[in-house]
Amino acid sequence: MIQLTNIHKAFGKNKVLNGIHLTVEKGDVVAILGPSGSGKTTLLRCVNFLERPNEGEISIGDFKISGKHPSKQDILQLRKKTAMVFQHYNLFKHKTVLENVMEGLVIAQKQPKEEARRTSLEVLNKVGLSDKIDAYPSQLSGGQQQRVGIARALALNPEVILFDEPTSALDPELVGEVLSVIRKIADDGVTMIIVTHEVSFAREVSSHVVFMDGGVIVEQGEPEDVFVRPREERTRQFLKRVT
Ligand code: ATP
Repeated sequence: MIQLTNIHKAFGKNKVLNGIHLTVEKGDVVAILGPSGSGKTTLLRCVNFLERPNEGEISIGDFKISGKHPSKQDILQLRKKTAMVFQHYNLFKHKTVLENVMEGLVIAQKQPKEEARRTSLEVLNKVGLSDKIDAYPSQLSGGQQQRVGIARALALNPEVILFDEPTSALDPELVGEVLSVIRKIADDGVTMIIVTHEVSFAREVSSHVVFMDGGVIVEQGEPEDVFVRPREERTRQFLKRVT
């Protein structure tokens, strides 16, 4: 289980997160929705301390880390428990697809190369890229590059995969292939937190929906409740605008 407790984050005077509490159960797919600037990406980046919370605590299983005085050791440990899929893929341009996926296993997890290669081939097969293992990112479409990003995260076998708007940099015709890979992983029971603007996808794939506005969680619950019977006026207004 992952627990975020009273997470606060400010950039200078701009208070972006104002006391976030969230529980994510093993196997949950949590979709975070909300208007632009509501703090969704910042919250996601706080989960692995790419942004350090000013206040609050994150726990993953028995492991706990506090925003106030985290040790370097704790931050490293936290990062090992999480993997992130970025909006702009963040692949190594001068490495092949296979090398991109193997990198984290060999360097961060110190796996023997043969084992890392085997794991990487497996996950690349899962995301439908077995025929592209020797290609370089520039030779791939955006959708394929993002699928490499997903394979790289999956290979690490983390406690949770964090997706930061994984389809928002893609041409519309490439969105579907990425969403269907995410759907497949969700079906395998991988725990995920997904910041997304894809309301229909969130509705279909998530087990838990979080609606944020102004740095707080306005409403959360099962997709059927939040999308069909929203309790809060702000959620209703948002859904009216985006659906
Ligand atoms: P969007 O849907 O547009 O991506 P969001 O809900 O993900 O928005 P955030 O990206 O978390 O929102 O940004 C929330 C606020 O925090 C914005 O006002 C943004 O300008 C500010 N912000 C985010 N990152 C930084 C940073 N590194 N330095 C300063 N301000 C930041």
